[in-house]
Amino acid sequence: MSRTVYVNGAYVAEEDAKISIFDRGFLMADGVYEVTSVLDGKLVDFPGHIARLGRSLNELDMDAPVDDAELETIHRELVARNDLDEGMIYMQVTRGAADRDFTYPENARPSLVLFTQEKPLAETQAAKDGIRVISVEDIRWGRRDIKTVQLLAPSMCKMMAKKAGKDDAWMVEDGFVTEGTSNNAYIVLQDGTIVTRNLSNAILHGITREAVLRFAREAQIKVVERPFTVEEAKGAAEAFITAASTFVCPVVEIDGISIGAGEPGPVAKRLREIYIDESRKQAI
Ligand code: PLP
Repeated sequence: MSRTVYVNGAYVAEEDAKISIFDRGFLMADGVYEVTSVLDGKLVDFPGHIARLGRSLNELDMDAPVDDAELETIHRELVARNDLDEGMIYMQVTRGAADRDFTYPENARPSLVLFTQEKPLAETQAAKDGIRVISVEDIRWGRRDIKTVQLLAPSMCKMMAKKAGKDDAWMVEDGFVTEGTSNNAYIVLQDGTIVTRNLSNAILHGITREAVLRFAREAQIKVVERPFTVEEAKGAAEAFITAASTFVCPVVEIDGISIGAGEPGPVAKRLREIYIDESRKQAI
């Protein structure tokens, strides 16, 4: 069934949506994006996603195409027009169309595109079984805190995992795990402490990460934000990932080694439950 999507001011059928071949998003990956999950037809962690979009735009000296209130209106309109109960809304802002040049154009109008993706989020096989990951070298650029659309490196890493018959890759730099190809990475130590990499330019500042760490601390679970190695992960009691598209999802194997009991652990399961319950309550 054809979706209704949003492109530069218009709601149109997906097959009618058009963007210029001179759009810098297309030519130079000069664009940023956000993915917001939808539960019960409502937006999860929406203020966080809007704030991070603003930060990404700011870091790249890119203008916002419309104000935050309008972005919310467009999200709601797409949920309504596509009758979306559970899934995601993808939003992309690019610097717009201009003759190809490495310098930023003076007068380009930013492009704004949004579309919905229907997908089960609360009940998934990955969450029930846990996922298996391999470690790969982190070949991305140095500003991973900016959520740009240049996703070829993580896409290549994910394909390496798929070719190895696994679900995802954890990327490693200077011996330490940065994050998953499209998620933040965590381990749980034998004493129950959650360890996840501290925020810096090396990783994306996950919106789900922020919420999950807050819920963990509220549940009196100790959280330490620091880098960890693959070796440390192999000896951990549990591991998990977070992202808007997966919530909290257990990781049960890394590089062929079972983590803990080799099945989803109690901390990951509990945090997933809390996250989904709270998101259902707080979604707007
Ligand atoms: N890290 C990377 C590299 C990502 O691409 C994503 C999500 O797409 C995340 C982490 C998780 O971020 P969020 O929780 O905001 O979805």
